[in-house]
Amino acid sequence: MTSQNFILTLIRKVIFENFNDIDVRFNNDEILNLLKKEEVFDKTITVDDLETQFKKIEDDGLVRCIAQNFTTKWFKLYDIMEKLNCNSCNSDVFLGNDEPRICYNNECGSTL
Ligand SMILES: [Zn+2]
Repeated sequence: MTSQNFILTLIRKVIFENFNDIDVRFNNDEILNLLKKEEVFDKTITVDDLETQFKKIEDDGLVRCIAQNFTTKWFKLYDIMEKLNCNSCNSDVFLGNDEPRICYNNECGSTL
């Protein structure tokens, strides 16, 4: 698993555990603060370093950006998320209900 992919999974996990409600808005700074509580997360990472990952979850159809104020981006979920387990790579997969049921962990791509 690459670190990019690893961080992406952590972001999805944090959203699932803290903001799994379609009426709740949350921002990239809040997510970063929650990521920093994860033991495995590199604490030197800044919100700018995560720009690609936030872009990715927007492009993948998990969240939409509803507002932006300088570097702070506000998001909302398109749909409630669920936690699945991929039997092929034995990883947790956190998906929005209207996202394709495909494991996004690197080099896996299995249908869940
Ligand atoms: Zn997998």
